[in-house]
Amino acid sequence: MAKIHELSETLTNQIAAGEVIERPASVVKELIENSIDAGASRIRIDFTEAGLKQIVVQDNGSGIEADQIDLAFMRHATSKINNERDLFRVATLGFRGEALASIAAVSQVEILTRASGVKGTRAEFSGGQKKLQEDAAAQKGTQIIVNNLFFNTPARLKYLRSPRTEMTKIIDIVNRVALGYSKIAFTLTNNGKVLFRTAGNGNLQQTVANIYGRPVAEKMLPIKMENADFKINGLISRPELTRSTRNFISILLNGRYIRNYQLNAAIMDGYANKMDSRHYPVAVIAIKVDPFLVDVNVHPTKQEVRLSKEKELGRLISQAISEAIMEKQDSLNTFSEI
Ligand code: ADP
Ligand code: MG
Repeated sequence: MAKIHELSETLTNQIAAGEVIERPASVVKELIENSIDAGASRIRIDFTEAGLKQIVVQDNGSGIEADQIDLAFMRHATSKINNERDLFRVATLGFRGEALASIAAVSQVEILTRASGVKGTRAEFSGGQKKLQEDAAAQKGTQIIVNNLFFNTPARLKYLRSPRTEMTKIIDIVNRVALGYSKIAFTLTNNGKVLFRTAGNGNLQQTVANIYGRPVAEKMLPIKMENADFKINGLISRPELTRSTRNFISILLNGRYIRNYQLNAAIMDGYANKMDSRHYPVAVIAIKVDPFLVDVNVHPTKQEVRLSKEKELGRLISQAISEAIMEKQDSLNTFSEI
């Protein structure tokens, strides 16, 4: 056997990238989550060739100062948590400090950023190595350009699905994040063509209209319910508006889009006999909970979380839905922000 030795940082970042960055849509997800954590009110996402040629995410958030760039791209370096206590009360979407390092390890990244009151900075990385950093004129905020994703990991490239499927996955994740943040104005373009734009005015029904179209938005009912642990807010479709997949159900837990089988089942329970099997609603359900009840550190992409009192939450969701359907409230009223 060969002697044991420590792996280089470039190599460990590539290994980590395998977990966090599975496909172009993972890059998009990580970058927009960073923009949200940076307090952006406008986020623009552009991609070409299913994201393999280029993904650009631009925000008007806090920006990064020149002397922080290296840290931002270093694995396990983050501005979001400090100690063990914070780990159990994560209030941001990110906290693992892995995304930028992982993305940079498997692509060619350019960053143009400016924090308020300082000069802008531009830097380039390729396959995890920094190539350049210089002063540059920039608007406040951050623009990250990811070129040639997986150029140095041919095995990963081979695993990708068709360009059409990869593109659908990008659109899907941006849709769901935009639904969770109706106060942020999102624009998504593919090859320069606008796929959708949200107004960013905090009106969830309008956001649903921007994403799924006005006819869908008009068939949505507001839901609102809370108990000592959870606060639920959102829109669900009237039972007559159905879809043949679950893909139009978005559950956001403290602003984080999650997948959760139990909660999906709870939604269906709420519709009870009003929707037959093989039909699913359109739903945006935003749940607020004390971060202490959620362990987000279960999965590298954080789409699966561990939730205390999950059964109780399920019951609350079912109840909120069945009451909303019974009341059949008028659809086109204004909604509180979520
Ligand atoms: P994490 O989000 O888990 O902290 P990332 O690798 O995604 O890890 O980002 C590392 C750090 O870079 C963040 O903690 C943040 O300080 C900074 N950063 C990343 N993206 C942005 C952005 N769009 N605007 C401002 N700061 C950013
Ligand atoms: Mg992040």
